[in-house]
Amino acid sequence: MLCSLFSIFDNYQQKENLWPRTLVYRCDTTTVPTPIRHINIRRIRDKAKPLNLIPFSFITTTNYLICTIHTPMKMHRIWLLLIFHCIFRTCDGGPFWMFKNAPTPIESTNVPSSFYDNSDRLIYFESDTNQGNSIKESRTGPTPRERTLPLFLVRFLSIFELNRVVRELETSSMSSVSCFVCKWGIGILRYLLAAGATENDIASKVETFCIDLHIESERVCKGVVETFKHEILHVLAKTNFTLIEICAVIVGESCGESTPDLNWTVSFTPVPKPPVVNVPLPKPGAPVLRVLHLSDTHFDMYYKEGADAECGEPLCCRMGDKIMNGSRAAGKWGDYRKCDTPLRTIESMFEHIAKNFKLDYILWTGDLPPHDIWNQSRTDQIYVLKQTTKLFMKYFPNVPIFPALGNHEGAPVNSFPPPFVKGNDSIAWLYDELIDAWGNWLPNYTTPTIRKGAFYSVLVSPGFRIISLNLNYCNNRNWWLLLNTTDPAEELQWLIYELQYAEFKKEKVHIIGHIPPGMEDCIKIWSANYYKIINRFESTIASQFFGHTHMDEFEIFYDEVDVTRPTNLAYVGPSVTPYVGLNPAFRIYTIDGLYTNSSYAVLDHENYMMDLESANKNGTASWFKLYSAKDSYRMNSMQPTDWDKLVKQMVADDTIFQRYYKYYHRASSAFPTCDQKCKHQLLCAVISGKSHDPSQCYHLRKLLYKT
Ligand SMILES: [Zn+2]
Ligand SMILES: [Zn+2]
Repeated sequence: MLCSLFSIFDNYQQKENLWPRTLVYRCDTTTVPTPIRHINIRRIRDKAKPLNLIPFSFITTTNYLICTIHTPMKMHRIWLLLIFHCIFRTCDGGPFWMFKNAPTPIESTNVPSSFYDNSDRLIYFESDTNQGNSIKESRTGPTPRERTLPLFLVRFLSIFELNRVVRELETSSMSSVSCFVCKWGIGILRYLLAAGATENDIASKVETFCIDLHIESERVCKGVVETFKHEILHVLAKTNFTLIEICAVIVGESCGESTPDLNWTVSFTPVPKPPVVNVPLPKPGAPVLRVLHLSDTHFDMYYKEGADAECGEPLCCRMGDKIMNGSRAAGKWGDYRKCDTPLRTIESMFEHIAKNFKLDYILWTGDLPPHDIWNQSRTDQIYVLKQTTKLFMKYFPNVPIFPALGNHEGAPVNSFPPPFVKGNDSIAWLYDELIDAWGNWLPNYTTPTIRKGAFYSVLVSPGFRIISLNLNYCNNRNWWLLLNTTDPAEELQWLIYELQYAEFKKEKVHIIGHIPPGMEDCIKIWSANYYKIINRFESTIASQFFGHTHMDEFEIFYDEVDVTRPTNLAYVGPSVTPYVGLNPAFRIYTIDGLYTNSSYAVLDHENYMMDLESANKNGTASWFKLYSAKDSYRMNSMQPTDWDKLVKQMVADDTIFQRYYKYYHRASSAFPTCDQKCKHQLLCAVISGKSHDPSQCYHLRKLLYKT
């Protein structure tokens, strides 16, 4: 039934294929209280009026709101179909039915008849007397050119706010709009696949759709479709997940409920959790480690000073973009608009660091390639990996480096097939290169786990271990996970064994990775399992380090029983790239270490930046310290409890929060101000080490809106 309407792209150029005038929509209202239902009905009426879609009839059954719309004219089926989607977005998706061969024609003024569908669901219907016939459309005017959507459709589809969905995908702030479009888009693709359409057929339809709706420029639309078509269609054809489950993974639980497939758990060893003891502050003068954290370099080898910085594509300031004068021209050292990092900025930063800091080691938390995601091949990604590795070798020849894999290293972006995917789709092309590149710094015994899943564990010195995780196995944009989300590459199970071993050996562990596990991009079930692991091994894990958001922020983990007790902290380092609106930055940690029974606790971190605006104005780059955490936030130490205290201070005192916010974007003049709603969002992210779980934020909301 559901599929009968998903013939959306089915020869929409051919005018003879008409659809009946009357449709029935069902949306599940079991969870929608009556007043909201009434508001929905009012909204639907308001939206339908200008479209001449009258009259309506609404029937509310125990479970369903059934809306019937009568169209005043014979419409092309795709138009009618999309009108329905747009109008009923207020009902937040849900399947609906169109009847091409309804049993009995009924006048629109009559009460609709009803019948039970194959799943014993009560369905009301009305139909057009001409339904099912092939009738030539009487519309006059020029025939739309081939592969172009009709103008009315283009106008109509703008209601979908697809550009907003693109923005939401970029910023990971998925709303009900993205949820709706997810269900709608995936439903159509699955229908087309089931109907036997070829990969190229579907790709060409999606391409037309993208170009005509101006979702992106023509070359980006073509590039995106070409780059992603195989992976997405291949996975959709093979996955056993339902539409709701798929969107629950991609968008989050707001788009669908968890199901057994999304509810796996890892097994812990039978060893009981040791009692938690407070970490003592090191004695004054005790030795410390100085550790550089670099993240999200996004080196763009095609960056071009003077090129158009407002090119209208996901990445600008590049060779091939128009050369501009004045305010639209890309800056010498980078740009606040959608532009990545020029080579000269990376080299200037590395030179400054190499000259001014004595480093014990470097944490390098991924995202090497630029954001031209529509245009990336495996060869491109390997080239960027090699070039960036060379830069590290050139400027830091004698410093150990511990890398983690970013989501942009895949081709296409976010594509990291688990080990069960073999053949040409296998990710071996990348992991084999990592063994080579990372092999410059890592011992040989890390090879098997890097080959399997791009994660590893290294004993840095007696009593101290670094574990690098591949967070792409919790990435909600990694389509391959739709084939099986259960602990891909057995990474978390492996992590438990590593941590248990470290606990036996009385080692302290630092975990590094790319995507912070508490953010929306990390699949809920993976994140929930990870949270449990952190809680179990809170005394062994001294700290965690991530990147990906490009922001300077942090995530606090809390005890699962006493939810007010902070147990661990994840530092999220600032990005090198200014993408978007940021000043390029790097961070240096001071860590207790290098003596027997060191805590390997982070004692402080200093953050350095370049002011892009003045660097571009003056033509010269200068790097300077923006702040050190302990001083700026007046912290006694940097234990999880101190960060929890800081959050409480930020809630109560907006001056402290605004200081945090300034550091968050590195005092960029291009960044918007942060109001109360934004403050709530940012602080909520900070106290949520578990993704898609706002439970820690309820109390915060109360405090925030009381003050
Ligand atoms: Zn990044
Ligand atoms: Zn990333």
